[in-house]
Amino acid sequence: MDTGLFIALLNPTIALALGAAFLVLWFHQRHRPYLAALALSYAFCPAGFLLQYFTLPIGMAPTKLLSNICFTIAACCLAGAIVARYGRRVPYVGIGILAGGGLLALCWFLFVQPDLTWRILSMNFGFGGLSLLVAAELRTVRRNGPTEMILFVLALLSGLNFIGRTLAIVVMHGPFTTYDGFYSSSYWTTALLSQALLSLLIALSLFTAAALDVMKALKAETYTDPLSGLLNRRGFEDRAALLLRQCASAKLPVALVLADLDHFKALNDQHGHAAGDRVIADFAAKLSFATGTRGAAGRIGGEEFAVLLPLCDLASARLFAEAIRSLYSSGGVTTLPPGVRVTASFGVAARTGDEGLAPLMQRADEALYKAKKNGRDSVRLSYERAETVFVAENASVG
Ligand code: GH3
Ligand code: MG
Ligand code: MG
Repeated sequence: MDTGLFIALLNPTIALALGAAFLVLWFHQRHRPYLAALALSYAFCPAGFLLQYFTLPIGMAPTKLLSNICFTIAACCLAGAIVARYGRRVPYVGIGILAGGGLLALCWFLFVQPDLTWRILSMNFGFGGLSLLVAAELRTVRRNGPTEMILFVLALLSGLNFIGRTLAIVVMHGPFTTYDGFYSSSYWTTALLSQALLSLLIALSLFTAAALDVMKALKAETYTDPLSGLLNRRGFEDRAALLLRQCASAKLPVALVLADLDHFKALNDQHGHAAGDRVIADFAAKLSFATGTRGAAGRIGGEEFAVLLPLCDLASARLFAEAIRSLYSSGGVTTLPPGVRVTASFGVAARTGDEGLAPLMQRADEALYKAKKNGRDSVRLSYERAETVFVAENASVG
């Protein structure tokens, strides 16, 4: 195959494949519009390249304009998608000025004062400006992770590629007068190859970013209880283990509160399962609010909850439990008919020594059992010393 043709087909082929891949990703994740913008970007790119080679019946100048409009749309979508993916506000005005300015200059040097060299400079400066705008947006988030840093560097390189390489070649080669000389020039070959490489690297980084998004969402889903919005048992155990390790290394106290709604089966029977669900959601919301971001709150069973409270000793964890108990006891549930009261029982244990989660849960559960036995709607504490419960390290937790 003719090398020129091979290189010419390289970009459209890569771009089409990438566009299709981003489209598939977007179909599976409609809530991430940046994936649609990427698919659009990589779909417009090949159209731009093909219009460079095949002149439409509308004439050469309008075809060139159309080709550059395709490139501009592709560049704007790519710039907007990258900035949006990294949680920054898309700078529509900046993008509009750079893209519009490039196209206006192109029209001037195409229709008013035809000059191929200035057309090349206009478009490349526009695209270079867009790349540098993206780099400027990513500058503030570049230390957040590897994909942020890689894309920041790629945006910078892309900016330098568009502006620096174009300028260098125009200076070395001298002005371009015909398209024949232009397409066989080192400018065009290096433009195609370097942009193919850069767009491939940018797409790979964005694929990695999209994959990380999916993994993060899946992890959050695996660890979250949909009804209450709290961590589920697995999520709670994971986060609690981490907090226990952190408190142990910082030598800070930490306490565990277990809560179980009283006579919940009867409540379901009398008011229906949906009303029961609303109570669970309401109780969870109050626990979550009271816990804040420092601790961990989880729904570890049907109507059973656990809260791990860093920086809390037995007395302050007891106050925490008492506050929620009395709120509920005084009729704090607004989702039930007037006069209907839900109460909860609590078991509290403070960590002693480097006690692990399992023995701590077991002690809190024993305290909860006492609260249930002593008439419910109460808070009971575990005063046991850690040494006596370490034996039960591997015992199952109820
Ligand atoms: P106790 O005071 O001893 O805790 O009595 P209880 O009735 O609350 O305890 P029990 O363990 O006998 O029953 C728990 C009930 O919680 C049984 C089940 O129907 C209900 N439950 C569990 N999960 C859910 C849920 O997701 N939604 C609703 N509405 N009810 C649930
Ligand atoms: Mg119960
Ligand atoms: Mg229960």
